[in-house]
Amino acid sequence: MRLILVGPPGAGKGTQAVHLAAHYSIPHISTGDIFRANLKEGTPLGVEAKGYMDKGELVPDSVTNAMVKDRLNHSDTTNGFLLDGFPRNVAQAEVLKGILEEKKTPIDAALELAIENSEIIKRLSSRRTCKECGKAFPGALDKCDSCGGELYQRDDDKEEVISRRLEVYTEQTAPIISFYRTAGLLITIPAVGDVAEITAGAIRALSQKLS
Ligand code: AMP
Repeated sequence: MRLILVGPPGAGKGTQAVHLAAHYSIPHISTGDIFRANLKEGTPLGVEAKGYMDKGELVPDSVTNAMVKDRLNHSDTTNGFLLDGFPRNVAQAEVLKGILEEKKTPIDAALELAIENSEIIKRLSSRRTCKECGKAFPGALDKCDSCGGELYQRDDDKEEVISRRLEVYTEQTAPIISFYRTAGLLITIPAVGDVAEITAGAIRALSQKLS
């Protein structure tokens, strides 16, 4: 299964990606997680990305595309992958198409998690993330329930950055929905409610689409 998750920040892409990747036994590739890991390690890539991430802007395509191309060459992607947070604009979608055409391994589907703006703002401003494993929580908890790590508020989950991230989503990322619809690859599911039910809905929709 070669799958792309599409949806605004806060739609639950990261959470659903973990469950779907486990279900299909494919690696979960999150460009945001890769940038944050580089940031934590203080690599040049992390330092470069931080300036954009802190403002809610996209990291330049040249940097992001090269990083994804490299990641898709790892042997764990042979049986598929789940991309979370990439592509983030039509130019990235075109580059991804080219990379996969060269390998003769086109994507199977783009799964859109649909959610209202008011719900996104509520979710993101209360979201806390584990410093150790990156798992996201809807506020309240003290420690990560998976690894016991400390929780923190991502700089880009602060209110002033959230509104810019939403603008960037509308202006730059949302057009990829038409791109995948035109390609006949788009599946849209509602992303509100119980996490397990959303996962089950996604798996049902994917198996219908691919049967
Ligand atoms: P995310 O964890 O997916 O919300 O991503 C956090 C931040 O990382 C974004 O706001 C961007 O600054 C950067 N980022 C993640 N994925 C991409 C991408 N595909 N293209 C450009 N920037 C990205």
